Amino acid sequence: MSYDVIIAGAGSVGVPTAMALGQMGVKTLVIDMNPSAGQGENKHAIGGVRATHSDPGKILVCRRSLEIFSTWQDRIGDDIEWLKGGYVFPVYRKSDEKMLKALLPIQKKYRLNIDYIGAEKIRKIIPGINPTGLRGGTFAPDDGSISPLLSINAFYRQALRQGVEFRFKERIEKLWCDKGKMIGVKTNLTTHMAPIIIDAAGPFSPQLCGTARVDLPVIPDSHEGAITEPVQPFFQCMVVDIRPAPGSKNYYFYQNKHGQVVFCITPDPPIVGTDKRETSRFLPQVCERIVNLLPRLKNLRVRRTWRGLYPMTPDGLPLVGWNRDVKGLLHATGMCGQGLMIAPGIAEVIARMIAGNTTPDDKVILEEFSPYRHFKAQEALK
Ligand SMILES: Cc1cc2nc3c(=O)[nH]c(=O)nc-3n(C[C@H](O)[C@H](O)[C@H](O)COP(=O)(O)OP(=O)(O)OC[C@H]3O[C@@H](n4cnc5c(N)ncnc54)[C@H](O)[C@@H]3O)c2cc1C
Repeated sequence: MSYDVIIAGAGSVGVPTAMALGQMGVKTLVIDMNPSAGQGENKHAIGGVRATHSDPGKILVCRRSLEIFSTWQDRIGDDIEWLKGGYVFPVYRKSDEKMLKALLPIQKKYRLNIDYIGAEKIRKIIPGINPTGLRGGTFAPDDGSISPLLSINAFYRQALRQGVEFRFKERIEKLWCDKGKMIGVKTNLTTHMAPIIIDAAGPFSPQLCGTARVDLPVIPDSHEGAITEPVQPFFQCMVVDIRPAPGSKNYYFYQNKHGQVVFCITPDPPIVGTDKRETSRFLPQVCERIVNLLPRLKNLRVRRTWRGLYPMTPDGLPLVGWNRDVKGLLHATGMCGQGLMIAPGIAEVIARMIAGNTTPDDKVILEEFSPYRHFKAQEALK
């Protein structure tokens, strides 16, 4: 069979991209080695979606994602457990206060609803937060959370309605090019033809693109997450503590619609590789930090832990753009720890790239996410 576009990967990025292409009437096939949508890294995300970033492209793309998530149930009907609780970065150190305040002008320039608020207000939003040394923090009330699996399945059903085809349990073994142009993919079962292939393979993009002799600076590093038993909801925001501690950088947590607290932490140094077995180090490390910040969580029981992969890039920004050496190969990968929140917004940008009608905002986004940038800068709010 031949298609206009083949998407490699039915994950956080691949499925909404298929939906955006289907909406434009583009004949699209999505291939995934897993048995259903979102079974790669998508289901490992804890569900935080924010536009609170430090770079214009990410703010713009995530603002659009938030619009899509927050209006989905009204527009399309599925409950994706959207919860508009906002994001709070509580501050205990003068240096963090300075850094977060310095980001506000750029965040406001790109129309982000965010402010620095005092300790009293933070204590109202997060009842029981440790008051010792609390200086205040930023609050972005329009950010929130969703269920990663409910949302990807909602996008999947919408893509099917728009005529997109999906093939699961099929592994792409080779990107098939001829004279520097994409002509299709070879899988473990058959071949499929298309002049445009979207690389949405997440942490496995380097292997996939390696079959077309394309080198990508995406390195899988592993992060663990956990969920507790449900209790009466008493806070709604995602809390991000950016202070480092021995063995870890930031950690973040929120209480979902069912009252369960969901959390994860950024190990320092990063744990590079594709091992997804849970560790015995994670829970003691993260729980000590969370309970110190919010002592009233100390009696909560953890129901489940898991470990997944961030498709990391050297500067923490995604890789989105046409490959310059292989015509028709479009990279949509390197989403790091933010693929869920970036995906629906970037999916529409990708659809416009294929239709050839990108907007001035898309230009800002695509310059920032270019696979050919120099990777020198480091994002402040990684
Ligand atoms: C603990 C944890 C917490 C996180 N929390 C958040 C969060 O709160 N918010 C957020 O935005 N992000 C979060 N993330 C990050 C997020 O999960 C990822 O950024 C995102 O899922 C990456 O999306 P993707 O589409 O690139 O990859 P995936 O969702 O993994 O999709 C790639 C797909 O490609 C398929 N594939 C790969 N190679 C092939 C091949 N050769 N043939 C066929 N199929 C192939 C895979 O099976 C997979 O389904 C978290 C991650 C972890 C681990």
